[in-house]
This record gives sequence, structure tokens and C-alpha cells, in this order.
Amino acid sequence: MDGAQVSALALLSQVFGFDGFRPMQGDIVAAVTAGEDVLAILPTGGGKSLCFQLPALIRPGLTVVISPLIALMRDQVRALREAGVAAGALTSGNTEEETAEVFDALHRGALKLLYMAPERLASGGTGRMLAEARVTMIAVDEAHCVSQWGHDFRPDYLRINALRRALDVPLAAFTATADAETRDEIVERLFDGRAPRLFLGGFDRPNIHLAFAAKESPRKQILDFAAARPGQSGIVYCGTRAKTETLAKALSDTGGDALAYHGGMEPDARREVERRFQTDDGLVVVATVAFGMGIDKPDIRWVAHADLPKSIESYYQEIGRAGRDGAPAETLTLYGADDIRFRRMQIDEGLAPPERRMADHGRLNALLGLAEAQGCRRVRLLAYFGDAAEPCGACDLCDAPPETFDGTEAVMKALSAVLRTGESFGVGHLTDILVGSATEKVMQRGHDRLPTFGVGRDIDRRQWGAIFRQMMGHDLVRPDPERHGGLRMTQAARPILKGEQAILLRRDTMTTVARRPAVKA
Ligand code: ADP
Ligand code: ZN
Repeated sequence: MDGAQVSALALLSQVFGFDGFRPMQGDIVAAVTAGEDVLAILPTGGGKSLCFQLPALIRPGLTVVISPLIALMRDQVRALREAGVAAGALTSGNTEEETAEVFDALHRGALKLLYMAPERLASGGTGRMLAEARVTMIAVDEAHCVSQWGHDFRPDYLRINALRRALDVPLAAFTATADAETRDEIVERLFDGRAPRLFLGGFDRPNIHLAFAAKESPRKQILDFAAARPGQSGIVYCGTRAKTETLAKALSDTGGDALAYHGGMEPDARREVERRFQTDDGLVVVATVAFGMGIDKPDIRWVAHADLPKSIESYYQEIGRAGRDGAPAETLTLYGADDIRFRRMQIDEGLAPPERRMADHGRLNALLGLAEAQGCRRVRLLAYFGDAAEPCGACDLCDAPPETFDGTEAVMKALSAVLRTGESFGVGHLTDILVGSATEKVMQRGHDRLPTFGVGRDIDRRQWGAIFRQMMGHDLVRPDPERHGGLRMTQAARPILKGEQAILLRRDTMTTVARRPAVKA
């Protein structure tokens, strides 16, 4: 991993609060930072703005961003400023003070990003002003607006090319419009026909089989998964350093070739594991997320998560290390109620400001939604990144559609137990109440006298555990850090409690040991 990559990742987390790149972002950021001309086509919601904002911070001087939408520019500038980045916009929506402030910062050489609408380019003053500023890059958002045949044509986009020539700086163009004609027009009209480096989004990695399983006997689940794939290179991601060691040992003890890897190891020892993974056949590395960034091994045949990743972005990035050669690769992600609790608490106990924490919960929710999905996982995963897809035939849920049942009544009972106990208890105690178990704690608190006591006798403890896990997965209840992780009800649960909305639960992850994905010959 080179220095530029390290600083890009550090800024990604410090300034933007993200723990990893979205698909394609890392490569695009590297190319733009290196000063290449770039045309990147990513679906809406794919995270295009980061692809010029982050390089703008790493590169010296000023980046000019041309964007057609005033509201969007203002949003981005506000978000950047809140993150401590010197950004400004020149738009018709500015107050005089705002404009004066931007010019002042510009003269002082203090700006990193200057947003402007294309109409600004029509005035000669703008060209002179930019020629005097230390512009080192131009970024063009919604680059398809340069196409005369699209319905978003903005004549002033045709002035961008002249600006690029005059300033003689690299240009990075972004759009979600992927058809070849528009692409050709962009190349012709923004780059004088000299082909830029092209990034064509489309996040699907169809050769990677997707599978999740609820934790039943997690160690055995991982050992079985690895044992079914002898002689193949694989990675097992774990949530803690200690677990990488114990699991690597368990794998070796059962005849596998496995090594642990985590950030607490000596650099030499880590490099040795990396080297052996690259060169040996069939080695399994059991690692924390510290493993992978510098790894460029095309024939990793499988990736397993012994614990739930942090977010849907991390999940995609980690499974994406498998099957770079295009040959079939498999994944298995284990998750359980404890993982969900752990990840929630990690977010709530972190030092991030409230909005960022909310966004983190949202990204975790997206991953949990994928874990508890009832239809094709790929459709759901790609939808999150803005790509449409058909049911894929290469995920566990396509292989064997899950059986569901109407869980409304059970969920209502569980919610009632949560509410009647003041939203301060965990799954174990709530289950005791539901199945009518008169434990000491139940008696002490008088919870045996609640109307909810024993109303869930028809369901066994283990199944209640699975129901609570699914409820957490659907974000109906969340652990409350203020109350030692006791579950509290969320807004999303209200319509169910009121009987306005039904909820389907998956039966397959309730009672049986979770299925392993089919082993392909
Ligand atoms: P686009 O312009 O491609 O439609 P945006 O740049 O507006 O997409 O990004 C879409 C959303 O994705 C934003 O909410 C942004 O904060 C989020 N996002 C972008 N990159 C990442 C990342 N690496 N990790 C997590 N979220 C991201
Ligand atoms: Zn599928």
C-alpha cells in the first residue's frame, strides 16, 4: 500500500466518517489524485462526489467543481464546511456576503474546492479570476449535461473545454448516464476527443456467491465451510484479534492450513503472512479487517465472516476480495443478536456527532436488512448501491427460497414484554418473561405479575432468541447504551404494535441449524 493510499483512507475516515470505499471509489480516487483525466460513470447514489472531493483535499491548490444544480452545490458545500473543509460556491443563490467571502478566501489562496454553475463560465471575469487562482483540477458533475441529445443539455457546459485548455489542468467528469453515445459526446466535448481513463460502474460481481447464516454453533459453521473447500485460498474475517488466533488454531487442528493476522502482530510477522498468502496454494488467513488492503491475489476462492461486518460498505469490500480472477467464488457471513448489539453499541458509544451516528445506524440497518432478507440478496445489495438487478441464481436465497411465516403476533408479544418492563432489559430476561420462567430476577422485579408473563409458552427459548434477532435485524428494537444495552422499541415497530402492519419472519433461521450454501463441484 503506498503513501497516497494511506492518506486517502485516513482522510476518508477523518473528514467523511466512512470506514471504507464504495465499489469503484478507491480506484477512481487514486486516478484523480494522480492527475489523470477521468470519466467515471456510477449509478445515482454510488458516491460520485467523494471521488473528486477526496482528491481535491489531497492535491495541492484549488479544485473547481462545475455542477448544474444549485441546491446540490449548496448541500455539498455546507457538508464540506461542517467537516472542516475550505469550500465555497458561486451561485445565483448566494447572498452578497457569501460571494464576498468566497472571493476573499480565493484571493488568500485558502479555498480547496470552489463550486460554480456552468453559467458563470459565460462571463469573462470568471476566466480571469480562475487563471489567477491556483487551480489544479476541474471536476464536472452531471457531465451528461454537455450532450445535446440528452434532455438535460446545458449549453454552458460547452464552455468547460475551453476552461480546461486555458488552465491546462486535469479534468474529472462524472455522470450516472451510461449509454455509449453520451459517453462519446462527453469525451469529444470535455476532453477534445482525447480519451480519458474510463471507469464504468456496475457493481455486480456475478461470480461471487452470496450467503448469510444465523449463528448456531459459529465455530463449527466456519470449520465446516472451510473443510468443504480443501486446498482453496480463503479469508475468514473476525471481529476481534483474539478470535483470529483461536479460530486459526482450530482450523489448523482440524487439518487445515491456516494463519492468524491482525494489527497487533509485529510488522514482520504480518508481512510474512501476506507473503505466504500470495504464494502458497490453499492457505486460509483468519484476520481482522486489517488484512486485505494491500492484498492483490486474484484467486481467493472464498471469504467468510465469522462475525457481522460493520456496514454494508465494509461487507461489499471484504467479500469483493474473492474471485478477482472472475472464476466462481463463495462467501458466508455469520450474524447473531450479539453482533447486532455489538455494532449498535459501537456506534452509540463512539464519539461521532449525532448525524453521523444516525448515518452509521442506517448503513448497519442496510446490512442487517441484507442478512434477514427474504428475497435475492444480490438484488438487495445492488439496489443499495443504486444498481438494478434481476434475481441472480447465485445466492443462498435464490438457491433455496426461505420459508416465512406471519410473525406479527409473536412480535407483538415480544414488544409488549419490552414496553411493560420499561425498555431496559435484554433478550434473556425478556424471554424468561415470555415463556413464563420464574427466575430470581423475574421474581425480584415482580415481572411474574405482568400480563405478558407466560404468553409466549408455545414458542421455545431458542426460537424467541431468533425472533428477537430478527426484530433487531428489522430495527424494531435497539439496545440502549444508556441502559446497559437493554432493548428499546423504535418508531418502526409502532405500526406493528398498533396492528396496522404485519411482519413476516423467516422460519428457516429459527429452529434448524442454518443451511450451508451448496458446495459446488
Ligand atoms: P451520487 O452523486 O453518485 O449520486 P453521492 O456522492 O451523493 O452519490 O453519495 C451518495 C451517498 O452515499 C451519500 O449519502 C454519501 O454520503 C454516501 N457515501 C458515499 N461514499 C461513501 C462511502 N465510501 N461509505 C459510505 N457512504 C458513502
Ligand atoms: Zn440471488
